[in-house]
Amino acid sequence: MKNQAGTKNLLEVDLRRLKKNLCQSVLITVLLLFLIGCSSEEIAPPTLVPLLDLPPAQQTEFAVTAESSPPLMDGERTSNVNRPASVPTPVGVGIRPSEAEQLWVPDAGPEPPEGWRPPPYDVPLSLHYDDHYWLARPLPSGSRNYDLEWYPYGNDVQLPELPAYRIHHGIDFPNQTGTPVLAAGSGTVVFAGPFPSPLDGVNYYGNTVVIQHDWQWQGLDVFTLYAHTLELFVQEGDIVQQGQLIAGVGSSGEVSGPHLHFEVRVGSNNYNDARNPALWLAPFEGWGTLAGRFVDKNSQMISSASLTLTPLDVDTAVRKQRTYYPTVRSDQVWRENFVFGDVPAGHYRLTIDANDGVHIYQREVTIFPGQTSFEIISTNFEFVPTPTPVPVETVAATPEPEN
Ligand SMILES: [Zn+2]
Repeated sequence: MKNQAGTKNLLEVDLRRLKKNLCQSVLITVLLLFLIGCSSEEIAPPTLVPLLDLPPAQQTEFAVTAESSPPLMDGERTSNVNRPASVPTPVGVGIRPSEAEQLWVPDAGPEPPEGWRPPPYDVPLSLHYDDHYWLARPLPSGSRNYDLEWYPYGNDVQLPELPAYRIHHGIDFPNQTGTPVLAAGSGTVVFAGPFPSPLDGVNYYGNTVVIQHDWQWQGLDVFTLYAHTLELFVQEGDIVQQGQLIAGVGSSGEVSGPHLHFEVRVGSNNYNDARNPALWLAPFEGWGTLAGRFVDKNSQMISSASLTLTPLDVDTAVRKQRTYYPTVRSDQVWRENFVFGDVPAGHYRLTIDANDGVHIYQREVTIFPGQTSFEIISTNFEFVPTPTPVPVETVAATPEPEN
């Protein structure tokens, strides 16, 4: 790791020197052309092209502790599903790398105070070629438009004092009752109303809106779901635009308090086709996403491993969660089993405990503004999952069971 970091630093120094030399060359050229221009009016001034030296997202594929393993197979991240020509796919635009560079935060520091976040980037945004930040936040800036970090996607609740909930297939935005709920993208309302479970008829989701977006991704339909709302301002069949008011935050269904439960479903409007919304919602300005895959020597995902993310210049962990529960779906492109969304750009230490107290991995990671940094951490042993524990029945206390 040290060697790698050293190489990277050298590379950055070289890049800076190269950039400096280039700037000097450009300056001299401009000066020469100016002098020539004094004698002849026919030479056009040169066009300065901004230098792009934003490093690409990390794709290191080896363990960094004493345990190292052979590199994983690569080339499995970008699939080549043909898209029907009739359905548009958004082209990622938003900010230029040079603009992102200006937002670079070298030291992450502690998280900003609760309740404050920068405005999100415009969508669609794809600074990294595998990014697909095509959805806007479903709540306005000024409300709490970032998710509840102790109940992450693919995890149960991460607070030991609380009873087991369900494995989360979405993310939650606690807000005051009546806070506007906005369409994350344009499309057609395919469902609006109470949403009883097809399994037992219980209205867990409460008043719910589902939008089928008017674009596809990887040849697949994309849906967003908005649950537990107070009131609905749309009905089935309505065409909605991104940012349009569709509902108000509420407590309908089985909840412990007012919040928006938000899901992204890819392929079909089905509970089992949910994906991590953090890979779809554009980050806040100057913030980014850390996603990754924790696997054993056979590239099998290791579930429920403890993850801790700590800024390098601070001792306190800013985020804790676990790798996805085995039944939770990963993104088609990233094939991740963990995501830390909404993290200020900067340098961090990622610690993964395989949950046996023996295999603990650490890696320094860099989060870049407006894009996803991806890490693959591999063990050198074979992971044998423990049998799925029988869930404790806490029906009365379960704030948010889902169908
Ligand atoms: Zn939820």
